[in-house]
Amino acid sequence: MATEEKEPLRFVTDRMLGKLSTWLRILGHDTVYAAEIKGKSVGGEEDEDKALVAFAEHEARILLTRDKNLASSASNKGAQCVQIKTEDVMEQLKELLLHNVNINLEPVPARCSECNARIRKVEEGEEEILKEKSYVPTSMVGKCDFWVCEGCGRIYWEGSHWRDMRERLRQLR
Ligand SMILES: [Zn+2]
Repeated sequence: MATEEKEPLRFVTDRMLGKLSTWLRILGHDTVYAAEIKGKSVGGEEDEDKALVAFAEHEARILLTRDKNLASSASNKGAQCVQIKTEDVMEQLKELLLHNVNINLEPVPARCSECNARIRKVEEGEEEILKEKSYVPTSMVGKCDFWVCEGCGRIYWEGSHWRDMRERLRQLR
């Protein structure tokens, strides 16, 4: 799969790939997880596999799946699809690279890993929204940058968590 465009690649993942979805979002990729599209209009398809293929085609997303049958039916229909063979999420990212799927390998504060909505920087004077969240360490407020999800309101900041992720990603290269 040759991908030259500068825009981050967009994905839709099957139900086996929840963790991979989270990682792709952390890397800035717009990623819809199968469990989250149920109920959304996907061309009136009742069968989830068919719905996933239709959704991938309709939104021009790359379908990622652990399911061999789903992968072949997607390919037959002309949808972009990668069959993932491993279980470990780091191995799965490596598989994408081996398929020449040019995923970013730097965590970028662009997308909420919970809900896939855009996140934006918390501006000066907005610190109140940080205090509303009990999981935000007050000692960090004013010392580093924070981001807020425009969808669900989750707060993100550059802490040890991101350093750890960077380290794991470095090992993939
Ligand atoms: Zn969110």
